[in-house]
Amino acid sequence: MKPEEIRCQNDLQLYNTLLKHRDVIKVNEMIARQEEKGPTGLRRHLLATSVSLSKGMAPSVHKMADECIETLEMDIPLELYVFPSPQFNAMCFKPEEGRLHVMFSSSLLEGFKDDELKFVIGHELGHHVYKHHDIPIGYLLKGQRPASPRLALELFAWSRYAEISADRAGAHCAQNLDAVARALFKLASGLTSDFVQFDLDDFLKQVSEMQIVDAEPGQGAPKQDWFSTHPFSPMRVKALELFDQSVMANGDTSKDDLEVAVQGVMSLMEPSYLEGKTKTAIHMRRLLFAASICVANASDGISAEEIKTFEEFFGKGEFDKNLNVEQLSATLDDRIKTAKEMASVPQRMQVLRDLCTMSRSSGRTTEPERDVMNDIADKLDVPRSFICQSLAQDVEPD
Ligand SMILES: [Zn+2]
Repeated sequence: MKPEEIRCQNDLQLYNTLLKHRDVIKVNEMIARQEEKGPTGLRRHLLATSVSLSKGMAPSVHKMADECIETLEMDIPLELYVFPSPQFNAMCFKPEEGRLHVMFSSSLLEGFKDDELKFVIGHELGHHVYKHHDIPIGYLLKGQRPASPRLALELFAWSRYAEISADRAGAHCAQNLDAVARALFKLASGLTSDFVQFDLDDFLKQVSEMQIVDAEPGQGAPKQDWFSTHPFSPMRVKALELFDQSVMANGDTSKDDLEVAVQGVMSLMEPSYLEGKTKTAIHMRRLLFAASICVANASDGISAEEIKTFEEFFGKGEFDKNLNVEQLSATLDDRIKTAKEMASVPQRMQVLRDLCTMSRSSGRTTEPERDVMNDIADKLDVPRSFICQSLAQDVEPD
């Protein structure tokens, strides 16, 4: 099975659309101009902060990496690095000077068994194989001119599907679903010791619970994870289990059926309410509409920049100059109340996350703006910490 054949369909689709996006093209041109001037210093930086793992030092890691390179039909010299950290982490960088650099945290190398590590290596190499670095998501979301809210949401959605593709590449290399699930469990829980008996079924149950979740905020799984560049771990395992049951691995589900099922799992993390026609979606939109105006109005009225952001979200011409902000503000509490009655916790969090995205892309979030957002979070029964996380999200792929 060639790596292109197992790539997640939604990753490929969103990737191709994003590559043609005006702002993505612009940032890529800027990066290319910088690279023309010489290497960005990545390799030097790695050599200064990490330890290069030679074949002599880490023969088993190199052997696994070589096997992954063969499975994924890659043709590029690889350099492996380790850096000291108690957090399980690995990352792969855009090639520099014709070489691909992959980094692991020390705890990951020590805490992961061979098959689990092979999944991690395959996952990282998958990002390279699928050219995920061609969408400079970090630059786009955190650069000098942050992406428009629409583009930001598309980038987040793409990024999660890109992780699904990378996971498939990793699973394809490891050829052991149990080891793969264990690796994701270790990444999610931070646990490696043997006294915790990993149970795949229990782990997967978490996904079905998420779909019916109505728990109080602060209970259970870290819900903020649902709204990040990475899919929540049990969802990743679920997506991999579906992959395992497809014709591309050990089962007989067709590729089309697989992609539909994966989309079903992932939809929980998608801002579909912006287009949705259900009553809940409409009330979520009504809330976002009023909330975004109130936040924008919180310091020095609504600026031209804020109107631009708003219209990028809701459509051109949607901001009415004659809009009575005070009248609209007076409806905010009612809108919050209705949304709280109709929308589930994850849905309410989605509105807040989008509110943060809007605030972030119109520039700095001021304190009065932050106060309004905190107030909305309180009334929606969503922890305030969720706002901090959404505003300061780390967006680099790993
Ligand atoms: Zn990744």
